[in-house]
Amino acid sequence: MKASQMFLSTLREVPSEAEIPSHILLLRAGMIKKLVSGVYAFMPMGYRALRKIEQIVREEMDAAGAQEVLMSALQPAELWQESGRWYAYGPELMRLKDRNDREFCLGPTHEEIFTDIVRQQVSSYRQLPLNLYQIQHKYRDEARPRFGLIRSREFIMKDDYSFDRDEAGLDVSYKNMYNAYEKIFDRCGLNYRAVEADSGAIGGSNSHEFCALSEIGEEEIIYCDHCSMAATAERAAFKDTPASDEEMLPLEKKLTPGTKTIEAVAAYLDLPQSRTIKALLLETFDPEDPSAPVRYIACFLRGDRQLNKTKLINALGIPDYAVQFADEAAMAAATGCVGGFTGPIGLHDCTVVVDTELVGARNLCAGACEADHHYINVNYGRDYKADIVTDLKLLQAGDPCPVCGQPVKSARGIEVGQVFKLGTKYSEAMHLYFKDENQQEHPVIMGCYGIGVTRTLAAVVEQYHDDNGIIWPMSVAPYHAVVTVINPKDEIQMSLAGSISARLEAAGLEVVIDERDERPGVKFKDADLIGFPIRITVGKKAADGIVEYKLRRGGDNTDLTAEEAADAAIELYNREKIRP
Ligand code: ATP
Ligand code: MG
Repeated sequence: MKASQMFLSTLREVPSEAEIPSHILLLRAGMIKKLVSGVYAFMPMGYRALRKIEQIVREEMDAAGAQEVLMSALQPAELWQESGRWYAYGPELMRLKDRNDREFCLGPTHEEIFTDIVRQQVSSYRQLPLNLYQIQHKYRDEARPRFGLIRSREFIMKDDYSFDRDEAGLDVSYKNMYNAYEKIFDRCGLNYRAVEADSGAIGGSNSHEFCALSEIGEEEIIYCDHCSMAATAERAAFKDTPASDEEMLPLEKKLTPGTKTIEAVAAYLDLPQSRTIKALLLETFDPEDPSAPVRYIACFLRGDRQLNKTKLINALGIPDYAVQFADEAAMAAATGCVGGFTGPIGLHDCTVVVDTELVGARNLCAGACEADHHYINVNYGRDYKADIVTDLKLLQAGDPCPVCGQPVKSARGIEVGQVFKLGTKYSEAMHLYFKDENQQEHPVIMGCYGIGVTRTLAAVVEQYHDDNGIIWPMSVAPYHAVVTVINPKDEIQMSLAGSISARLEAAGLEVVIDERDERPGVKFKDADLIGFPIRITVGKKAADGIVEYKLRRGGDNTDLTAEEAADAAIELYNREKIRP
């Protein structure tokens, strides 16, 4: 391909809305263009890289025995009503109506559609197991689209659904997909970690996220160097301090003027924060009936702990968009809470959620639901009770590992994929049943497995770049090599460039000849920005058959004969084309 004929435009300036390297570089290299917030178009170079990733995904999914299909992005509301997610999915669902007022959405994911298609065809155990996938556009009206392809509103996902007759079958399907994901992310060259993940309101026993390690990652990963524990912070269990054997002391109310925070009351009463109770006041509405009155929730945990909102939401069984911090004045009128002085004693008409660790703790200090007052010697069971007792705590770096007790560490990652045991959630709601050998009916056991293909592209750039641009791993590079011609008017240079390129192409490499009428510095800058793994420069020494050979990842320019340069390029390509 000749650079002069390519639909290509690189930018010198950093686009103002872009904050992270992948977003900046993909825009600057002209690989993507923004249409509106969270919606991007792919230009030839970007699309080639994207298709490389898609192809890796396809090859590994096919090798794992999955069959590719293509569902529609436009989905009828009825199927989502059947599964119960039309409301539960909330404002992220892109809803629309046709001319006859029939409701649709643009699919953010496809559990309903696959379940529907499979139930039309599958009725016997003989048709199981089954594993279907697609690579397709998805739509999510994200509250905060940002970071370019990392969190967009239109993106490409590979989604796969497995259908098994029993849990043992699901275990096999799950492991199979997990292994395929490792191969996919290895082949993309990503430095990633598979971690236990939250399985959300779906319940389910098992889910793992594949996170590409990156400072800009939105996912916090907690892991232990002493054992194999690794989980998202949302998911990570907390190791409670053992129950105290202290005697319960008499409850006592204390004047604590102006002590509205844990820090203030702990200092005022000269207590460690671990001997205080922190209150968090929330409200929730019913997504199925937004006109119903709000429900108030008071959560209590040790003063030195942080709330893990995901654990709370799972315990309440409501979608996260339906939970928010309470309007304190309204909540005070309804429940008796007092901003800054709320404790579990004296509250009414609200759901009380108490962290497990408080149950065995003794003689703590809590707000008295009265301005400028706290109780001391508050004890669970004797002084207050909960509607729900559950682990509400966020595990943080330095806390003891829930498995082995050693201090855990934390890292940030970009969630590029997730595998999920769904069980019978969709098959029961939508009646996907099969008959066994004895004509007995059972719900099909499902799993689902997603990869953000466009997000993976961005994650690769996050891990493979420097100040000058992208450094594509060979396996996903839009082109493997650029042959830069210093003086395109020189016929010797052009002809040598043409013969090198022909040799490389014959060996399977994809090559751009940069014969644009530009200064060499411009061509080198563009080559670095675009990130061709290999650059062969044809200049004055072409008359002697000598060229410069340079790798984008680093190392010196070396003068080689044209044959040596081509040999080196082909050798490197063959070594890294499948896996960097
Ligand atoms: P997140 O927690 O980042 O919002 P998710 O857990 O909701 O993602 P899944 O439903 O598991 O996402 O979707 C499967 C994959 O699709 C994710 O692992 C991720 O790689 C990708 N993905 C999800 N949302 C987006 C988005 N807004 N933009 C780009 N890719 C996305
Ligand atoms: Mg996910």
